[in-house]
Amino acid sequence: MPKSKKTLRVILGDQLNINHSWFKEINSDVTYLMMETLEESTYVKHHIQKLVGFFAPMRNFADLLQKKGHHLFYIKLNDAHNHENFKTNIETIFEKNGFDKIEFLYPDEYRVDYQLNKIVSKIHCPIEFLDSEHFFTQRNELKIFFQDKKNFLMENFYRYMRKKHNILMEGDKPIGGQWNFDADNRKKLPKNISIPSALTFNYDATEIVNMITEMGIKTIGTIDAKNFMWPTSRNEAIELLNYFCDYLLPFFGTYEDAMHTEHWSVFHSRLSFVLNIKLISPKEVIDAAVKAWENNKIEISIAQIEGFVRQILGWREYMRGIYWAKMPEYEKLNFFNHQQKLPEYFWTGNTKMNCVKHAVKQSLSFAYAHHIQRLMVTGNFMLLAGIHPDEVDEWYLGIYMDALQWVEITNTRGMSQFADGGIVGSKPYVSSANYIDKMSNYCEKCFYNKSKKYGEKACPFNSFYWDFYDRHESKLKNNPRIGMMYNIWGKTLPEEKSKILEQAAFYHENLNQL
Ligand code: FAD
Ligand code: SF4
Repeated sequence: MPKSKKTLRVILGDQLNINHSWFKEINSDVTYLMMETLEESTYVKHHIQKLVGFFAPMRNFADLLQKKGHHLFYIKLNDAHNHENFKTNIETIFEKNGFDKIEFLYPDEYRVDYQLNKIVSKIHCPIEFLDSEHFFTQRNELKIFFQDKKNFLMENFYRYMRKKHNILMEGDKPIGGQWNFDADNRKKLPKNISIPSALTFNYDATEIVNMITEMGIKTIGTIDAKNFMWPTSRNEAIELLNYFCDYLLPFFGTYEDAMHTEHWSVFHSRLSFVLNIKLISPKEVIDAAVKAWENNKIEISIAQIEGFVRQILGWREYMRGIYWAKMPEYEKLNFFNHQQKLPEYFWTGNTKMNCVKHAVKQSLSFAYAHHIQRLMVTGNFMLLAGIHPDEVDEWYLGIYMDALQWVEITNTRGMSQFADGGIVGSKPYVSSANYIDKMSNYCEKCFYNKSKKYGEKACPFNSFYWDFYDRHESKLKNNPRIGMMYNIWGKTLPEEKSKILEQAAFYHENLNQL
């Protein structure tokens, strides 16, 4: 009898997809390997909830596999035989146990891809990379889609995806007669609107938190260790999805951009974290939401479901495609040559700017802020203040539950900071207090005056806004989407311009005291 081949299959912390074909059959010649590593825990300073948010679901996933009868090695962070990184752990386990083959699922992050490929070049045995069976697209699909086009317009990609996957389609036409219902969405929260509270869970994370503390790993943010609030299993991820479809989807699009001091997640799904670690798939999420809409078209309008589908089928897949088309150069881009350091209040929330204070404090408390808080408050401020994109990335990559580089960097360097010079976005997302006031109640109780551009207590966003356009005129003035702003700035009286720019200069010099 020929000796049967022993295979080692490596499951990364964001590959918790129990529906993957790997797990369909129990095979005694296959051993799975899962690792908590120091390297992954420290490549940036992570939010404590983000670390727990990886380790707790990983441990639950390992238990599930073992209960199903799969053979598995699980290396905890504080195990004496943990070699701190993927490479050394895999090489050691491979050599000690006499495997004949290694299999990986394609990682989502360039850093990990690079590390795994280094292992591959050292170990002399058959090695195979397989699809993670999570995304709608292959890594290179977007690159192929845009190969002979002038720009990477998300809307074109989104329409292609709708047609290809037959989602919200009537034949080859979009249901409702339009591809995009954005114009019906994005309203401010009316007074006295009832918003369902965020669904939370209560995993006891004391052991994991103690382990992290004892190992001296530096983290940010706070946690209620006894009642960790994020889903840690597939069942809980499904509960969160059902809760969204039942209670939040009917208003999702309408109030997608709204911000409020009393509501930290408004009508958002909070599914990004469970999606990104693959407890649940984007197809399942879209199918459930479309079904909820089909069953309840009176309460859920087409604008709500289209808005939601666009985020997942459009933006999420688009960002991943851009990442794999443009890395590793992408992580070095700094179109505006911004060099400023991130002010200390991004780590504490102690600033007089009420909008920044709320967005940062809730991020420290929940490891979450919704899209518009990230884009139009913190991101907007960082861009106006001229923060170096490396500092911006480090902050976003550390603080959010859902922060994995493939989707973080394309959103920060691309959409938010325009550091890619316009690959992801056609213009920089900057605004004065006007937009923040329109979409939130932040300005009502702010130390600063939302209506003033200069003078006592003038809102920093106002002078920074014009200063930004002024500083970057040579790079932006030919952008057709910004022309109007340069017309307004051009017509502004010189004395007015000087006052605004002087105010901005004062705020730049005193950035840490704002
Ligand atoms: P919902 O508003 O309920 O949206 C539904 C889903 O759509 C999300 O769960 C998410 O999977 C997807 N989605 C929505 N917008 C985007 C987008 N722009 N890119 C990719 N997917 C999107 N998202 C991350 O998953 N990880 C990140 O690290 C991350 N960093 C960001 C940094 C900045 C500066 C900005 C502007 C956005 C970032 N986003 C990131 C995108 C988006 O803000 C989050 O996906 C969203 O806020 C997560 O909350 P939610 O699940 O409640 O989303
Ligand atoms: Fe933010 Fe300015 Fe409004 Fe204050 S006044 S909340 S700083 S936009």
